[in-house]
Amino acid sequence: ALILAIESSCDETAVAVLRGAKGEPTEVLASVISSQIELHREHGGVVPELASRNHSLHLRPLVEQALAEAEIAIGEVDALAATTGPGLASSLLIGSTAAKAMACALGKPFIGVNHLEGHLLSPFLLETEVPPHLGLIVSGGHTLLIDVKAAGEYQKLGSTRDDAAGEAFDKVGKMLGLPYPGGPEIEKVAKEGSSAAFDFPRSMLHDPHLDFSFSGLKTAVLYTLQKEQNPVVADLAASFQLAVIETLVGKTMKAARRSRAKIIALSGGVSMNRALRAAFQEACDRAGIRLAVAPPDLCTDNAAMIGFAGLLRFLDGASSRLDADISPNLPLV
Ligand code: ATP
Ligand code: FE
Ligand code: MG
Repeated sequence: ALILAIESSCDETAVAVLRGAKGEPTEVLASVISSQIELHREHGGVVPELASRNHSLHLRPLVEQALAEAEIAIGEVDALAATTGPGLASSLLIGSTAAKAMACALGKPFIGVNHLEGHLLSPFLLETEVPPHLGLIVSGGHTLLIDVKAAGEYQKLGSTRDDAAGEAFDKVGKMLGLPYPGGPEIEKVAKEGSSAAFDFPRSMLHDPHLDFSFSGLKTAVLYTLQKEQNPVVADLAASFQLAVIETLVGKTMKAARRSRAKIIALSGGVSMNRALRAAFQEACDRAGIRLAVAPPDLCTDNAAMIGFAGLLRFLDGASSRLDADISPNLPLV
C-alpha cells in the first residue's frame, strides 16, 4: 500500500510517502521537512500563531516535493494519514485538514495518527514487524515508559510528573544562554565539560515507581548558576546531561527487569543524544537486551513515522472518520 502522511503538530511541517505491506520492511519513498526552528529562535520558543501560518505556507509545496521525490502521482496513494494530536491546535488543524481534503477529493481513507505512537514505533520503521518491547519516548513534551505488546497494544509504566526530558534540556539551555532548542546545544557544549563538576539530583531514581521528575534538576542548575561566581557553562551542561541520562537509563533498566523485556526502544528528539545512546547501549549490553533506536532523521518530528503508524492501521483495515476532530491533549495510553 502507498501512504501519504503529514505531520504538523508543532513547529515542523513534514510530508512523507511510504510503501509497505504486511511482513515486509517499509520503504520510505520520500520524507521532506520544513523546519521552523530559525523562525522561532528569536522568540526563544515556539509561537503558535507563527507556526500555523508557516504550516499553511509550506504544506502544499512540500506535498508536491514529496510526490515528485517518490515518483508517484497523488491518485496512486491508497490512504492519507495526518497527526491529529497531541500538539498545538492551530498547527494540527492545518495538516489534518489538508489530509482530509485530499482523502475526500480522491475517495481514499483518512487515517488520524497519534504523534506519540509515531515516535514510539519509529525505531521499527525499517523492520518487518513491531516486536514486543519496552519503549521509552523522550521528546520535547513527553517522557513515557511503555510496555508494547504489539503495535496498538500499549500499557503505560511510567511518565514524567512535571517537565519532559526534552523540556528540561530546552529550559536549562535557555538558563545557560544557549540558542533554542537547548538539547543539541547542551550536547555540543557538554563535550568540553566535566560531568563530575556538579552533583545534580537524580530525582526519583531509587523510588519503586517508574515515574520521572526533571523540574528539581532544572531548579538545581538555576540555584548553582545564582550561587557560583563564574560557573563553567560546559561543566554545568555536562553535569546536567549526565543526571538526565542516569535517571533515564536507571528507570528504564528497572522497568526492563520487571517486565523481562528483551528489547528496549528509544524514540523522540532526545534519543538523538549520543551520550544517552551510548549509556543505554552499555546498560543493554550488560543486561543482554537488544537496543533499538531510530535513525537520526526519524528521532525528531517527521512525517515518515506518522506514515508508518498510519500504514500499520491501514493494513489492519482501520481508518478514521472525516469528521474526526483534532485533539491537542490526545493521550497515547
Ligand atoms: P512531543 O513529541 O512530545 O510532542 P516534540 O515533537 O517537540 O514534542 P521532538 O521533536 O521529538 O519533540 O524532540 C524535540 C526535543 O528533542 C527538544 O526538546 C530538543 O531539545 C530535544 N533534542 C534534540 N536533539 C537533542 C540532543 N542531541 N540532545 C538532547 N535533546 C535533544
Ligand atoms: Fe514529537
Ligand atoms: Mg519539534
